[in-house]
Amino acid sequence: MIYMLYLDNAATTQVLNEVKDYMIEYLVKYYANSEVDYYDLGIKSKQAIEQARNHVARLVGCRENEVIFTSGATESNNMIIKGVVKAYKDLGNHIITTKVEHSSVLNVCQYLESEGYRVTYLDVDRFGRIKLEDLENAITENTILISIIWGNNELGTLNDIHSIDQLIFQYELDSKRKIFFHSDATQVVGKMDIDFGQFKALDFLSLSAHKFHGPKGVGSAILRSDEYGFLPKIEPLIHGGGQEGNYRSGTIPVHNIVGLGKAAEIAHNNLEINYNNLLSLEKRFIEILDSTIGKKIRLVYNSDTKEKVPGIINVQFEGIRNKRMLEYLSSKGIMASSGSACSISKPSHVLKAIGKNQKEIEESIRFSLSSYEDINNLDVLIEVFNI
Ligand code: PMP
Repeated sequence: MIYMLYLDNAATTQVLNEVKDYMIEYLVKYYANSEVDYYDLGIKSKQAIEQARNHVARLVGCRENEVIFTSGATESNNMIIKGVVKAYKDLGNHIITTKVEHSSVLNVCQYLESEGYRVTYLDVDRFGRIKLEDLENAITENTILISIIWGNNELGTLNDIHSIDQLIFQYELDSKRKIFFHSDATQVVGKMDIDFGQFKALDFLSLSAHKFHGPKGVGSAILRSDEYGFLPKIEPLIHGGGQEGNYRSGTIPVHNIVGLGKAAEIAHNNLEINYNNLLSLEKRFIEILDSTIGKKIRLVYNSDTKEKVPGIINVQFEGIRNKRMLEYLSSKGIMASSGSACSISKPSHVLKAIGKNQKEIEESIRFSLSSYEDINNLDVLIEVFNI
């Protein structure tokens, strides 16, 4: 029997119908340049863009002027990291990040190393979380930027961004030095409650719409404004017509941005119910695994059970190569992956960083659920995993 069950939602999610319908309106009917303010069609686009900005701001708890639209988290990470270190190069050349960042942070840091910057890659514990004391010990008077992933895309593990924020804030108070603090929140936004306004040292966030049922190719960089509403000066990644307050040039993709806004609005309105759905789905998924294949072979859960993004489960099937397992699952219509979609052919640097050996890495699979999945649909896995 062939089923159809998509369990790769940490890679990307299905666009909701409501989002799609709204996007089509702006793709087809209200297609004018949103920068034009002397004809109605343009004004209509502009209003929709500002409404989308409002929805994103509400989802992450920031001010509207702090939302800059980008093509997604890869661009946001590039823009923030390169933009900060270039704009403030006189203030320091040291960056601190972790060994378990997404490649759009790690590869930027490696590039910056080739440009002469110094980068510290923090170790993580067995679930992928940094230790506060390691961060504290790594900070020097040359540190200009700290970039720490909020929720890990392969494991779901959450870093304690509140405590990290407190530590950096205290350092800033004591040393009277500014350190910019960025967190890649791509796996957390839309799934968990985030209140950017509450933080004291956190300056930047990155997010992508397609992780919470919006379209691909659009996201935001969140930039903290000062008490007068001014955004930090960072070197733009893309120079051109000066759109998005000169932070991100290029004709505004209205349909994509309204899609992001609609997905943000829906995610915000349903945050609690979707979160609880993911918890129930995850519990049921693990029950099924444990009571089927788990009775025959050892299953090692690489993800923490608490302090994690709900719905991301990374598990090692001892003795079975993930390639073989994924092919088997695919033959049954079950879609999952061996880790980050962006580094599918390379062994996971995240699993390596949490101490897994090559064999363990090659036996591990990431399943990631959608809050919109009907829990009864998981029952097909009972037959699939009874092997
Ligand atoms: N950061 C994290 C944690 C991610 O999971 C992803 C998507 N895999 C990205 C950044 C990049 O997002 P995008 O591909 O939408 O630019």
